[in-house]
Amino acid sequence: MKNFIRFIVFVLLFPVMAQALELSVQEKEFIANNPKVKIALMPDFSPFSFIKEDRIVGFENDLLQIISQETGLRFDKHFGVWNKNLKAFQEKSVDIITSISYKKEREAFTTFTTPYYNIPIMIFVRDDFGTYKGMQSLEGKKVGILKDVFYTIELEKYTNNKLHIYETYDELTEALVFGKIDALIQNLPNINYLIKKNLYTNLVLVDELELPGIKKEDLRFGINPDKPLLYSIMQKALDNIGEERWTALSGKWLSVKLIDEMLGEQINSSLALLSEEEKKYLENTIVKIGMIRDYYPFSYEENGKINGFSFEYFKLLASKVGMKFDVEVDNWSPTLHKFENKKIDIIDAISYTREREEFANFSNAYFHIPNAIFARKNSFEEYGGLESLRGKKVGITKNIYYFDTIKELGLFELVVFESSREKIKALALGKIDAAFNNLTSGQKYILQGGDTNIEVLDELADEIVKKEDLKLGVSKENVILYSIVEKAMGAITANEKTKLVNKYFGVGFQKEERDKNIALNTEEREYLETKKEIRMCSIPNIPPLEQIDENGKHKGIAEDIIQIVSKKIQKPIVLVPTQSWSKSLENIKDGKCDILPAAMKTQNRQHYMNFTTPYLIEALVVATKDDKFFIENSSRLKNLKIGIVEGYVFIELLKQKHPDIEIVQVKSAKEGLLQVRDGKLFGYVDILPSIAYTIQKEGLFDLKVAGKLEFDAEFGIASRKDEPLLNSIMQKALKEIGEEEIRSIVGKWVSITIEQAFDYRKLIYISLFFLAILSVVLYKNRSIKALNKKLEELSITDNLTQLYNRNKLDEVLKEEANRSKRFLHTFAVIMVDIDHFKSVNDAHGHQMGDIVLKEFAEILKSNSRKTDIVGRWGGEEFMVICAQTDLKGATALADSMKEQIASYSFSSGEPKTASFGVSVYNKNEDIKDLIKRADDALYKAKKNGRNRVEIG
Ligand code: GH3
Ligand code: MG
Ligand code: MG
Repeated sequence: MKNFIRFIVFVLLFPVMAQALELSVQEKEFIANNPKVKIALMPDFSPFSFIKEDRIVGFENDLLQIISQETGLRFDKHFGVWNKNLKAFQEKSVDIITSISYKKEREAFTTFTTPYYNIPIMIFVRDDFGTYKGMQSLEGKKVGILKDVFYTIELEKYTNNKLHIYETYDELTEALVFGKIDALIQNLPNINYLIKKNLYTNLVLVDELELPGIKKEDLRFGINPDKPLLYSIMQKALDNIGEERWTALSGKWLSVKLIDEMLGEQINSSLALLSEEEKKYLENTIVKIGMIRDYYPFSYEENGKINGFSFEYFKLLASKVGMKFDVEVDNWSPTLHKFENKKIDIIDAISYTREREEFANFSNAYFHIPNAIFARKNSFEEYGGLESLRGKKVGITKNIYYFDTIKELGLFELVVFESSREKIKALALGKIDAAFNNLTSGQKYILQGGDTNIEVLDELADEIVKKEDLKLGVSKENVILYSIVEKAMGAITANEKTKLVNKYFGVGFQKEERDKNIALNTEEREYLETKKEIRMCSIPNIPPLEQIDENGKHKGIAEDIIQIVSKKIQKPIVLVPTQSWSKSLENIKDGKCDILPAAMKTQNRQHYMNFTTPYLIEALVVATKDDKFFIENSSRLKNLKIGIVEGYVFIELLKQKHPDIEIVQVKSAKEGLLQVRDGKLFGYVDILPSIAYTIQKEGLFDLKVAGKLEFDAEFGIASRKDEPLLNSIMQKALKEIGEEEIRSIVGKWVSITIEQAFDYRKLIYISLFFLAILSVVLYKNRSIKALNKKLEELSITDNLTQLYNRNKLDEVLKEEANRSKRFLHTFAVIMVDIDHFKSVNDAHGHQMGDIVLKEFAEILKSNSRKTDIVGRWGGEEFMVICAQTDLKGATALADSMKEQIASYSFSSGEPKTASFGVSVYNKNEDIKDLIKRADDALYKAKKNGRNRVEIG
């Protein structure tokens, strides 16, 4: 996300062009003489280079293609695993090796190009982690990493606690899933792995690991040192790629979406080839399949209908062969009985056991699920494996495939249940001490039943009970059907299956879940029943927040939110189109509309509308031309012509605060920004997403975001006052949506525009795949912060004291030094440090400290001359830069400041003094030296008893 902001800033501020590659005569000759260069790639290093449909693809492959086009070099690609490639490279049987990281000892046989990718290292937690607020949230937590990974030592130092080391990704991931650790850290390419394992829906990617001393793993080309020309060609080609193409490349290969696709083959919904006999069978038969009633999320009943992964999988399978089927839903044990007694032809979700071979033919497994041991929270403080459960009452489902295995352990008092649901319930109620259940459905029942006092104790280890393999069982004597099932299963592509897996085990599924069960009270429900639909009016022209497009459709962030709300309350919400915002407001007053999806609360509006709490809070920013100065708050806009979209409540706010800002109301952000570009307006004020969206969409790259105002725009759903239940219903629905989801919606809109605006950034919106999965946490926590930090850096004022800040002081010092080079006069600096300031904080608290700092700043300011620059150097240190002033003048000024301070009555109730160090600039000296002399003088003043002025 940080990179995303960096990208936005880049787009807004520095569009650059790619330049033609210039090669020397020798380099050109080299290319002519070496039409093919041998290069070693890995066949399994996705997404950098890997085989897909018998072809090599990936980030590196694309990169080589670009280099080929630009230089004319042709690559003869050799594929091998890493060690083999390295050996070949050392033996010089290839000229270039890909994906090599810089290591000193490799220099003997390698010339390294600069990196073409630095692999970020990512931090994952479980979704019950609580709020993640950056790396400090990991303190005291159990953090897992892979054995011997290169950041081990630094991480150990940082986290201050022992790391949990695992041999394989499998173990590491499962440790997190099963609560043995709280977080895991691993690099981006292995995200692939996690996605494959996305049965584990409870993992969340929260952050990128950034620690001092840890470099990201660098991927470079290594070149045979005997071929310096080849190196210089490769390096030049890399240098010439340009930010845009780099971003496009990483967008293409390092996005979740694509990694996802890599898992599947190409969509190829081939139909299975059946024999005549098989076709005939299907024509005349309706196949009966038995499915489990509460086997979430594989098969479960919902409003009397069967649903779930297994059900959809079977539906897909049937469609491959044109099979007609009926589903019989029941608990597991009766279903198995029906199957044994040939009342049904196929049984779903059966695991292989030898005994069952008597009556079943087994298909291949279509899914593997781990089993887990569940217990009430904290009931097994000292859990150390199954032994800890000795003699306890442990729940198990009747006829489950591992029943006998568990029984043979002879460790527990087994309590048998008909269904998972009953079992988990019994556990919650304390009727049993622990329960075996598969991970996925167990977690579901816990959530569903509100039994949050239950947790996963451990995984039921593979050695004891194999992961549950879900197969279809076909009646032993029905050989034709068995062959049909086998063929149909074979026709299901990996891609189709991946889609299903993602639907049921991916993020989207949880979302669907949340769409249900919003807790409306009777009154609210009855009210909704009286409504056929809810009518919505909108602001027709503020994309990406909302707009009505050329087809009359409502679009944007607000629409996405409304869609979710509509689902949650199970009521259609329809648009009543209007030409303007004021018309929309009128409609609400007249009862022609029920709600406004993106409205800001004002006192006036509260007379006729109710407002939910805001779901979106965005800072107001100002866009200006590129050459304008930085704007740190609205007072900077005095006497300037500023555009704002008509009807925005900020117009009033701004007018009140600064009557002298000349506000021009415009129809849309586009109109406002165009007027800024044409010099008709100095600036345009709006929320950041609107400005970013419009600048990108319209290609207005000579504009920039010049600063942020002190107001936030807060958007909530407004509803007509005469139907107050609407407000409580909207409020409840919004509450269910959650900040993260909203952030990802915003991310989607701001980024989609990038996609539309530039072809070469086609895949940018997932660039950094940050947007796709972690959007969210990072967006809120980091991107705004990053943006603000950037803005602050550009700023010249210190927030607390309103004096100039360090940046400005540095800038003025430079200017003054230049000036003194050109002119005869010199300048002086005074360093000021408050004496024993810490005691103010200690005695009265930090807030009082801040107040005293402000008062102190005020004294310095009011006792300085017009030409003096007063700034905060840091903490409780200040600097005064006195232009055209000699030592005598500066010392006198310092003396008078000293007196004023000593006699001032500070809010803290006790006198304060300060110490001063004065120095004068010697022509042509380094500014650092000037400051050092002032600093040394200040130190001397402190040493000599404080409340003094010393000269350096
Ligand atoms: P000395 O006379 O030697 O300068 O003593 P001192 O206590 O003033 O100096 P020291 O550098 O030990 O402590 C400075 C204190 O200033 C420590 C820090 O807590 C406090 N401080 C720095 N910036 C701020 C601020 O923005 N607000 C508040 N309230 N305190 C601050
Ligand atoms: Mg100090
Ligand atoms: Mg001090």
